[in-house]
Amino acid sequence: MAKPVIAIVGRPNVGKSTIFNRIVGERISIVEDISGVTRDRIYAPAEWLGKEFNVIDTGGIDIGDEPFLDQIKYQAEIAMEEADVIIFITSGRESVTDADENVAKILYRTNKPVLLAVNKVDNPEMRSEIFDFYTLGLGEPFPLSGSHGLGIGDLLDAAISHFPEETEEEDDESVIKFSLIGRPNVGKSSIINAMLGEERVIVSDIAGTTRDAIDTEFVDEDGTEFVMIDTAGMRKRGKVYETTEKYSVLRALRAIERSDVVLVVLNAEEGIREQDKKVAGYAHEAGKGVIIVVNKWDTLEKDNSTMKDFENDIRKEFAYLSYAPIVFVSALTKQRLNKLPEVIKRVSANQRLRIQSSVLNDVIMDAVAMNPTPTDKGKRLRIYYATQVAIKPPTFVVFVNEPEMMHFSYARFLENRIRDTFVFEGTPIRILTRRRK
Ligand code: GDP
Ligand code: GDP
Repeated sequence: MAKPVIAIVGRPNVGKSTIFNRIVGERISIVEDISGVTRDRIYAPAEWLGKEFNVIDTGGIDIGDEPFLDQIKYQAEIAMEEADVIIFITSGRESVTDADENVAKILYRTNKPVLLAVNKVDNPEMRSEIFDFYTLGLGEPFPLSGSHGLGIGDLLDAAISHFPEETEEEDDESVIKFSLIGRPNVGKSSIINAMLGEERVIVSDIAGTTRDAIDTEFVDEDGTEFVMIDTAGMRKRGKVYETTEKYSVLRALRAIERSDVVLVVLNAEEGIREQDKKVAGYAHEAGKGVIIVVNKWDTLEKDNSTMKDFENDIRKEFAYLSYAPIVFVSALTKQRLNKLPEVIKRVSANQRLRIQSSVLNDVIMDAVAMNPTPTDKGKRLRIYYATQVAIKPPTFVVFVNEPEMMHFSYARFLENRIRDTFVFEGTPIRILTRRRK
């Protein structure tokens, strides 16, 4: 089931990104660390009272050269389209402005819950300032101070109370959900059309009632069912903001979330770009299966080393995706396109692989014998046992005496040993360290 989404809207400078960062926390992921993604983060996972959700900072989505009022109009429309709950932020330092009224007017059109927040209420004396904001007609305002971290808890309590009822999604384990992610023009639609031309499409392009419902289902010759999840750039409905890069990244991230396996499509002609790394990094962090598809292979003059060189570049640029298979295809000539369903199936199976504890522990103990655990101040990290606790992605818990002593490099060594022994091609794996009680 896709996580609920909260979107933050409001005119510039009211404190949207400050509040966004307060809500999502300062969790810096490995991938962000590598590529410096943190600075322009617009979409991130968060949690409140055990409820997981995603937050969008629509202020981070700039819509080209559009005039100021159009920008905030489009941002509000994105919020209305993408979110389950909208947080509309204003500033208690300036009272109600025309721009606030404009945003409010757009938000009246939605039937989604809108929470009005007045930021920069840094001390209790300022609380009386918020009464002006009743005139926006969006109910009782929540006073906030993003700088001091005040009021955010009450706001989130209200936000999560408006989340849709959790429905038991019939998560049919035999169906493989995948998406194609990549910059505009890399050839996603062409690959899909060529793939679907070969397969038996069950239901195609049913415009459903929910925003995510434009998926396509098909069955391959072995009877395996696939669901291809639509992403931006493929439905092209012609709204102004849909052509912006940030919005297409946002749509891609939303599609990744609903997928088991993500095909990161590159254009052989253009090589690897920053945006490719960003979305691929997100898929990795989200624990999804990843396949790198190099399209337009027909456009290159090739010699004996072309493929190897390209592969080396990919391995260098996507260092954290060393497990991802690479497939070189051409949607134009259909070269190797028939391999894709096979590779998707393989990666999906690896994501669901369960390793017996006894076998796993043999591997871990052999690894420890080969490369002893780290020591610190005369004390040695002791590994008692390991067990797999989850699939999609395969997640292992290693029970030890002192979790702090499990260095990143040693965990990486264990991961490599596990990967050498079992087939986890295409899937990230996670190793968690816990103190044995
Ligand atoms: P955005 O444009 O809406 O994303 O606004 P930012 O989060 O970038 O904040 C704009 C400015 O307001 C920055 O200088 C922030 O430091 C400041 N700011 C944010 N929250 C507060 C707050 O609660 N109190 C005060 N006094 N300043 C704040
Ligand atoms: P999307 O925006 O990622 O969905 O890309 P499209 O599928 O719309 O393709 C963009 C352009 O690249 C179109 O003009 C396609 O005909 C062309 N194209 C797609 N795949 C290939 C390919 O494998 N080789 C060549 N030469 N052109 C391709």
